[in-house]
Formats: sequence, structure tokens, C-alpha cells
Amino acid sequence: MYRSRDIAVQLSERIKELSKKILAETGRDELNIMNFCGTHEWTITHYGLRSLMPPSVNLVAGPGCPVCITPGYYIDILIDASFERNTIVITYGDAFKLPGSRNKHPRSLFHAKANGGNVKVVYSFQDAVKEAVREPGKKHVFLAVGFETTMPATAIPLVSGKIPRNLYILSAYRLTPPIMRFLLEKHPEIRLDGIIAPGHVSAVIGANSWRFVAEEYGIPIVVSGFEPLDVVLSIYMILKSIEEGRPRLMNEYTRVVNPDGNTYALKAISEAYTVKDSYWRGIGSVPLSGAVHSPRYSNYDYLESMGFKETITDDKHPGCICDKVVLGLAKPTQCPLFMKACTPNNPYGPCMVSSEGTCRIWAENMPVL
Ligand code: SF4
Repeated sequence: MYRSRDIAVQLSERIKELSKKILAETGRDELNIMNFCGTHEWTITHYGLRSLMPPSVNLVAGPGCPVCITPGYYIDILIDASFERNTIVITYGDAFKLPGSRNKHPRSLFHAKANGGNVKVVYSFQDAVKEAVREPGKKHVFLAVGFETTMPATAIPLVSGKIPRNLYILSAYRLTPPIMRFLLEKHPEIRLDGIIAPGHVSAVIGANSWRFVAEEYGIPIVVSGFEPLDVVLSIYMILKSIEEGRPRLMNEYTRVVNPDGNTYALKAISEAYTVKDSYWRGIGSVPLSGAVHSPRYSNYDYLESMGFKETITDDKHPGCICDKVVLGLAKPTQCPLFMKACTPNNPYGPCMVSSEGTCRIWAENMPVL
């Protein structure tokens, strides 16, 4: 049902009519709709949804890839930790090849492991807990990368007292509404006409978390599912909202997302973590956009336990334009290294590492431009 070609084509006709009307009334020559989330970019690229849009409707990939914006400094620290005696670094697979900020070998945890570092890849935080229980004499450090979607994975075991004392967490968690606000405040040059809000994140934080976009910035925003028809319908809803002159928050993903989110998960997150200003790779320091462990759980916090200070290093590698790709200011194909020195098998920049990175998505799905 969510992949019906006929319905998609019908909707695309309506999108063409609406966009024509809006452009005639506003005098604009294009409309920019940002999909915040990497998974939406995958749907758009994989199913060739850009080819269903009129040339005037520009679908812009946004900053919704947590691996892409994880500071290189964290990776540097973990590469060093992996060579310490009795220490095991644990990561999800999508951050395994993420380069640190030092442009020399070993550049990533993948390279560290190849050079004898102690690195393990897990599918879930529960697997990390099992590893730590299995080897109680060793220190384990888990790289916690993700947006609000993945925070409950560590927050709930933390507040439930189910984490062994030899397991530390390096919190690279980042929060999505603050980066959206930052983008709207600091980068008006992108001139967004509508935003497709992340569905999975919204299942945790609630659709209402995005209301500020419509109310404070006058930009329609739709919480969207991830099937092709979800995305095409969301684009239609945005254009309809513009045409009616009523920019508002809409929820297309009501089968999963409610207005207030998952209260159980949110309670655990607010107990386990404290919000603070944090650095986003390639973007800069974003107010109240990161999470460190609250004082009660700070003995699980790897950076705090080891006395590391949050440090901003130059983690942009020469030639890589990932910082612009993440902000929607450039397309992967504008990077001279795309599919030359930077490929999914051998990623040079952070946007080519994770399956949610725009460069990786474009590399693997042959975008229809
Ligand atoms: Fe960076 Fe690679 Fe993307 Fe170029 S193709 S912007 S080097 S991640």
C-alpha cells in the first residue's frame, strides 16, 4: 500500500499543480524542502522520488546522520583507548569506519582493529553489556552515537541499574530540535520552504517537539514515515500548507508517532542525561544539543571518568565537503572525491561511512538528479 506507483504518480501530478500555483503567486523560482533524516534521504534516493518532482521542487538532504556529525575527537580518544591494556572499545557497525580528526593511521576504529587495537562491533547496547559481563576484569567503553531514537538504549538500562561497573559510555548523543533551530537561525541562505521531520526521532520525542518550526519561523513541517508514499504525501502536505497560507505542524506518521512521544523513554532519558551545548562535526557548537550523563550516572561517563575535556579539533579532512553536504549547502556529486578517493568500501569523509550519510546513500543508490 505504501509503495503504490499509481498513487505516487497521482500525488506527483498534484505536487506539480500546487508548486506551479505557489511559484506564480510568490514570484519564487524554486521551493526548497529539507528532509532532516538520513533514512528519508535513503527513501528519496533509493526510490528515485526526485524524478517525480517538478524541477522547481528541490529536495534537500539535511543533517540527520548522527555518525556524520560525531566529533572526530571522540574517535581519536577511542582509537588510543583500544591500544590500552585491558580496555575494549565497543561500537555500532555504522561508526566503525568513521575517521577521527588525525589525518594519519590508524584513522578509524576499523583501522585500529586492523593494527591490533581491541575493538568489537555490536548490534545493540545489550550486546555491549553482555561483553562487559563476560569479561569482568576488563574495562569496556561503548561509543554511544545517535539522536533521541537511540538514547533510550542506554538510558533505560542506566536508570534500571543494569549496567556493570566495568562498562563506560562515551556519549556522542545529539538532539534534533536544537540543530533544526540552529540551521534556521544561522543558515537563512538555505531558504527552506518546508521540512520533513524525522519519524523515528519523533516517535520518542513526540510530534509537538517540532511545533516551533511552524509557529516561530512560519515554515510548514510534517512528521513523516519512511515508505515512498509517506514521503511523497508529506511533500504534498507541505505544499498544500504553503498554498493555504497556513504554515503548520502536521503528522503524516500517525501510525507510529503521537503528539507527546514515548513518555517512558523520555523519563529515562531525562533522568540519565543532562543537556548541554555540544559540537557537531563540520557544523560547530550548537546550543543545548548534546547529552552528558547526569551527576547520578557520571561514573559511567567515559570522558568524565578519564578526565577528558570536551575539545573541538579540526576534524575536516582536506578536500572533503561533508560539512556543506550535512547542512544542505552542497550535493555529494559536487565533491571532487566522490566515488574516487572516497567510496563506501573506503570512506574518506564522515558522510560516506554510515548508511544514513548522504554521500553513502547517493553512492549506493544512484540518484536520479
Ligand atoms: Fe566527504 Fe567523501 Fe562526501 Fe566528499 S564524498 S563530501 S570526501 S564524505
